[in-house]
Amino acid sequence: MNSAKLNPTRRSRGNDNSEHMNYKIIPLFVVYQGCPNRCVYCNERITAGTHPVRITADLIDRTVARYLSTVKRSNDHIQIAFYGGNFTGMNRQYQKELLHKAESHVREGLVQSIRISTRPDYIDRDCIAFLKRYSVQTVEIGAQSMVDEVLQWSKRGHTSGDVRRAVRLLKDAGIETGVHIMAGLPGDGEAGFEHTVNETIDLRPHMVRIHPTIVFDETELADLYRNGDYVPLSMSEAVGLCKHALGKFKRAGIPVIRLGLQMTGEMERDGAIVAGPHHPAFRSLVESSLLYDEASRLLSGIETKRHACCTFHLNPKDVSDFRGNRNGNITLLRERFRLSEISIETRVQQPRGTVIVIMEEKTYGN
Ligand code: SF4
Repeated sequence: MNSAKLNPTRRSRGNDNSEHMNYKIIPLFVVYQGCPNRCVYCNERITAGTHPVRITADLIDRTVARYLSTVKRSNDHIQIAFYGGNFTGMNRQYQKELLHKAESHVREGLVQSIRISTRPDYIDRDCIAFLKRYSVQTVEIGAQSMVDEVLQWSKRGHTSGDVRRAVRLLKDAGIETGVHIMAGLPGDGEAGFEHTVNETIDLRPHMVRIHPTIVFDETELADLYRNGDYVPLSMSEAVGLCKHALGKFKRAGIPVIRLGLQMTGEMERDGAIVAGPHHPAFRSLVESSLLYDEASRLLSGIETKRHACCTFHLNPKDVSDFRGNRNGNITLLRERFRLSEISIETRVQQPRGTVIVIMEEKTYGN
């Protein structure tokens, strides 16, 4: 790539984890299959881990049996998911083979439905009708950005218009629809990512995944990085952007089912991650920062006396994120608001992500 062309868009320095709702996912990876091109940041050998080159009916049977032998049967909705690659870009006969086998497990009542992930430019009415014949309930679309220039730099090979059209077609057909977006893509910036978040909210998908861009070995992005033509987000920039996005999606009532990439064994290999804001508990960093902001917002509105004591009420599942790494949030809050003591009480009925402050017998927050 002509680096002179990329330089004007060069980024500058400085400036999860459960699956959606009650789904239990049996993942199968169609690594790179159906991809018409290679996106600049993509190395599925690292992000998906080691998987057979071709999924067979037998492999689906074995994977489902192995999964079911390890889980307690409950009321959870179990989905077979075909992740990676571009499912609807694969040869139609091969799609049929995989869906037919997966659907046989739905018919037997062993699993409840099927999920696929695919590209927006490979969704049309005909392919949706085909997917619906095979119990495909959920389709996740790799949008990555809603800025066309960013999509071009990333060599995605589709436009933001393709994303809008695909999401509308899927939702109109009654298919549960997810959208993946990325922060820190080449040519992107704070305003571009904000635009992507806003446009995604306007589409009202059923769920969203957000990943900060990581520079993996053996990608075009690694070459750009080594040549000085791409500067990844710092960790604090990535946390800041994703926190802002998470807050917006929460307020819009759109679940963010994953923040940050799932760890694979390959990511731990020396040299696999060349650069970028990678953290195995990225979501916790973001949630922790969001909870800190909320606590600060509440305390800023209270006239705190020097050496006052306060109690925070939290959902029990938020306590660890609220405390932050090595109680970092508690220390910061205590210093910033000159508090002598902070205590925490948990309330199971309190919604996740909310903070209530009790100070001098008064309650602040909802
Ligand atoms: S379409 Fe998806 S799997 Fe294929 S190269 Fe691009 S990011 Fe990777």
